[in-house]
Amino acid sequence: MAEKYDAIVVGAGIGGLAAALMLSHRGRKTLLLEQHGFLGGRLSSFDRGDFHIDLGVHLISRSDKGPVGDVLRRVGIPDPVKYIHVRPRSSYQGKVHTFPHDLKDMVPEKDFTALMNFLSDIRSMPEEKMKEYDDVDLRTFFSQYTQEPMVCAWIESICTIYICVPPALASAGEFMRCLKWEAEARASGYPEGGCSAISNAFGDGIKRFGGEIKLGAKVQKIEVERGSVKGVMVGDELYQSDLVVSNADIKNTVLNLVSADYFPSDYVDYVKGLRYSWSGPVVRVALDKNLTDIHMLAQIGTTDLEGYHNKLENGIIPDELNLMVVVPSNFSAVVAPEGKQLVCVAAFGTGARMTNELKKELIEAILNSTEKIIPGLREHTTWVNTMTWDDLDNMLNEEGAVIGIGQTADQCGDKRPKIKSPIEGLYIVGGEAGGTGVGTELCANSAMEFMDVHCPIA
Ligand SMILES: Cc1cc2nc3c(=O)[nH]c(=O)nc-3n(C[C@H](O)[C@H](O)[C@H](O)COP(=O)(O)OP(=O)(O)OC[C@H]3O[C@@H](n4cnc5c(N)ncnc54)[C@H](O)[C@@H]3O)c2cc1C
Repeated sequence: MAEKYDAIVVGAGIGGLAAALMLSHRGRKTLLLEQHGFLGGRLSSFDRGDFHIDLGVHLISRSDKGPVGDVLRRVGIPDPVKYIHVRPRSSYQGKVHTFPHDLKDMVPEKDFTALMNFLSDIRSMPEEKMKEYDDVDLRTFFSQYTQEPMVCAWIESICTIYICVPPALASAGEFMRCLKWEAEARASGYPEGGCSAISNAFGDGIKRFGGEIKLGAKVQKIEVERGSVKGVMVGDELYQSDLVVSNADIKNTVLNLVSADYFPSDYVDYVKGLRYSWSGPVVRVALDKNLTDIHMLAQIGTTDLEGYHNKLENGIIPDELNLMVVVPSNFSAVVAPEGKQLVCVAAFGTGARMTNELKKELIEAILNSTEKIIPGLREHTTWVNTMTWDDLDNMLNEEGAVIGIGQTADQCGDKRPKIKSPIEGLYIVGGEAGGTGVGTELCANSAMEFMDVHCPIA
């Protein structure tokens, strides 16, 4: 006899973990199924020797003050994760700057004033008003203030780090919310013990409230009968439930796990047409000694943004790269042995059309650029570990996207995929549907939106 659950969650990314945690806290018999042998999806970590490495390159925008902490507070387990806070910094041509004030001496006065006006408008703008700009792209919106290249390069750098799509595509409303919330909270941080500390805290909470977690359990099929969800298949095992919450890729959920035949054809076309966020190679470098006191640094390689992206798309590595550098061992002693450092670098951008040769060249270029930021890097490297978008795609699908479905002007606000699917009892959470905010926080928000607005069981 197949076991019956009140709710089944497919996938233990942060969206799935948050949904399973809140469902089990409600006293519902909840089963969380994860295909891999670890929790967290893009928010997971792994060990290599004595180093503890995050899959991504992470800073949590508002740390415990944001939605990740909100979910834990809702279920009555506040503060299981400690964060080490940091003020994000940027560098240009070897000099380190703080946004926005250091731009004062770098751009004409009128353009600096325009930037400050933009920031002040965001500060005073009610969220209802921001929603009106969900379907306007950031470049168009920001160009009303200034088109000065250096200011635009900084906005692009922040936009890429927040939502991992360029301003020409990004939703202005979404960008403004992310910036406003982070500026108000002043709490960007890295979790003590690495990102797995967050995923494990959620997993522990699920078990504490009686939820069941099965790792290495790949859902092959979501069962549907007469327009309603009935359960899932893992191998030849059926788990029954009238409520299935998918944290898997929306395209995979609709087109494969369920099958397009069960959905209205316009919904299928809509899902097929959704576009993922950007991706980018991640390079992790283990150092045999402490070389840097950098915690987080966004390198702005160039102010010629169009030229930069054109080059990458045409197989030319730009001389200076746009990078996000995080040194997790400077936040948390757990991630590297004493006296050694772990440096993680990402160069976000489109990845889909790159050849293997170009990817190799890009990784070399990332190391060269990072060496300029951290002199002695190559000499003191014990090992280099890289993850390209193909690696990420093989592991977690979604073309190796950093976020999930891109927060672009045509995929935000009312145009964001809906959490409630057209199939009765089937819901989608995480970076795939609903929510708002930066990466991890978008997904935690999506799970809270599911619970508050859609969840059919009290
Ligand atoms: C390089 C990189 C850097 C990043 N930097 C930041 C940052 O600085 N700050 C930030 O907030 N965010 C950052 N992010 C983004 C953030 O990690 C993601 O937005 C977030 O973790 C995605 O969560 P999710 O809920 O969408 O689930 P995902 O992480 O996509 O996980 C989905 C889970 O579902 C499982 N699954 C899929 N199909 C099945 C199936 N059939 N059966 C069972 N299980 C299945 C997968 O194995 C996976 O565990 C970064 C991401 C990357 C890759």
